[in-house]
Amino acid sequence: PASDPRIRASLQQVIDALGEAETYLTGLDQQVGDGDLGLNLARGAAAIGSELDALAGQHPAELLRSLSAIVRRTVGGTSGALYAAGLLRAAATLQAIDAPGRGDWSRALGEGARAIAQLGDARIGDRTMLDALLPAAAVLEAEPSSSGDGLGRLGRAIEAAQQGVRDSSSTASRRGRSSYLGARVVGVADPGAEAVVVWLQAIRRALG
Ligand code: ADP
Ligand code: MG
Ligand code: MG
Repeated sequence: PASDPRIRASLQQVIDALGEAETYLTGLDQQVGDGDLGLNLARGAAAIGSELDALAGQHPAELLRSLSAIVRRTVGGTSGALYAAGLLRAAATLQAIDAPGRGDWSRALGEGARAIAQLGDARIGDRTMLDALLPAAAVLEAEPSSSGDGLGRLGRAIEAAQQGVRDSSSTASRRGRSSYLGARVVGVADPGAEAVVVWLQAIRRALG
């Protein structure tokens, strides 16, 4: 089928948003990690941007596999490895579907998030990207795709992600570099979880 213009628009918004969030995310990672997250994600976004035309024409499963490969090659760090694995699992869930609908994309996000949880051996409350990703996926997967408008759902998913970040900001970390800092991270949002909010909001802008 002809490629869906919403896919290209979403990619473009995510690329722009991660570029604009570089300083903010790096600032957070400087407080609780090694200060490279903003740069890592901005580098990945730029690499995706340089291949946008080719990517936007691919079947969704192929597109997610391509994104996984680009992320693995360019992002690096913990986030690079985990996002690459999540994108690969998301690709597998869309494999046999010709024109994925809203419910299929929701399941792809959920399966990707669970793959990240498995690989990183982390769960909600450990102060990782999963504090945003898993609650957002839960909202999207719980509501039947036929109900209500998709944008409202995505808005509620983003609110769940933001609540997850706030909840985990008040606890110590159990995974990643921030887990070495004990109580010193309390009150600072996890950079990886904030990054999830950034790209979810970008997708919502593209679909709105
Ligand atoms: P690093 O520089 O430590 O290799 P990044 O800066 O790329 O890592 O990413 C840091 C983010 O990765 C953290 O803010 C957190 O959200 C996420 N993270 C770290 N460890 C895990 C894990 N085990 N499972 C899921 N996410 C994790
Ligand atoms: Mg880092
Ligand atoms: Mg690093």
